[in-house]
Amino acid sequence: MRLELVLGSLFFTTVCFSQDSLPAKSVVCHFVEEDAFTTIRSQQLPNARIDATSNIEVTYSSNFPANARTAFEYAVQLWESKLVSSVPIRISATWSSLSGGTLAQSGTSRIYRNFTNAPYSNVWYPVALAEAIAKRELNVTSEADINVTVNSNINWYYGTDARAQSGRFDFVTVVLHEIAHGIGITSTLEVLDNGTQGQWGQNGSGYIYDVFIQDSQRRQVINTSIYSNPSTSLKSVITGGVLFFGLRDSKFANALPRIHAPNSYTEGVSISHLDESTYPVGSANSLMSPNIRSAEVNHSQGELLLNILLQMGWGINGVSSSIILSEESAEPLLDVLIYPNPVQSQLFVAIPNQNARDVSIEILNFNGQIIEQIADSNIQSKTYEFSLENLAAGLYFVRVKDGNRITKRRIVKN
Ligand SMILES: [Zn+2]
Repeated sequence: MRLELVLGSLFFTTVCFSQDSLPAKSVVCHFVEEDAFTTIRSQQLPNARIDATSNIEVTYSSNFPANARTAFEYAVQLWESKLVSSVPIRISATWSSLSGGTLAQSGTSRIYRNFTNAPYSNVWYPVALAEAIAKRELNVTSEADINVTVNSNINWYYGTDARAQSGRFDFVTVVLHEIAHGIGITSTLEVLDNGTQGQWGQNGSGYIYDVFIQDSQRRQVINTSIYSNPSTSLKSVITGGVLFFGLRDSKFANALPRIHAPNSYTEGVSISHLDESTYPVGSANSLMSPNIRSAEVNHSQGELLLNILLQMGWGINGVSSSIILSEESAEPLLDVLIYPNPVQSQLFVAIPNQNARDVSIEILNFNGQIIEQIADSNIQSKTYEFSLENLAAGLYFVRVKDGNRITKRRIVKN
């Protein structure tokens, strides 16, 4: 009798937490026709392609202008060198006339919960993040992971040179911003049509971004023992102007990211952005503010956005703290070419031409164990080839030493 009960509850648990998915709503981003004349350049090294730790594939609508595609690809590269995923991230980019002061709109096509390795149960993840965590495709490959629609009526600047142009909107800045929505900067917190109550959730679950939204007392807003769902108190907090993203890293304890929660709620804008007045145009974390101005150039994701994504479950190149990245901090860097990345079978490591010296190359798995190594003495320049064909898909590291110089790169094996 007792055994049956246990089995019964196990079965129930399995049913309860099985993977499911839903289409998602998109986020809307507005323009302000007032020249900012601010420029924040990418922090990226010139060898960005080599450092890519993810692969973002864009499919453009047939009317998408060629120069806009070039600028879009540039923004894609800025994300490819930050996000870590062994599963390709597919974007569908549409060129279309949008109304109402809209610059662009963007969002994950679909959300997943209770997939393999999901860190939280019964929480929705945007498909690109769910796939990065599950390390496999979840949606059908004919469907994009992210849909971005760009307003064709805007006076765009397509240059990738970060020059602020009077009266024109910087295309790279906007695409960088829109991709952030598609990979998870999106919320279900909303004010209901009656205007008096707030609520959250889609089919009973919040988004992973919602999980970390906190009130002025650092209490979780989706905790129903604090805020009933739906409720008037939830509406007050959504429109109260004092919401934060609760980063756990103590270095942000006194400077938590402030969420856009204005007095008048706007669907698809409120909560899914950072606060405009805390991060004014031209400041380091201004990329995710709700309004983008003409002549506002920002090619940098900013520390807060990257840490938000990290906490949501993304691997972030250069931000994630793993043991094997911290061990060689003070040593001078060795400039070495490691390609292609992502890699499917053959990986090449090219050592630049210099005075003869000893070189060692190691390939490590994500736990820091050496799985292949080569040591060579008295070489000037040489290209080494490794076959990774038999390795499981996922994240690896290549460590190259040359006398007292060292370099470590993350590589993604598909
Ligand atoms: Zn936006």
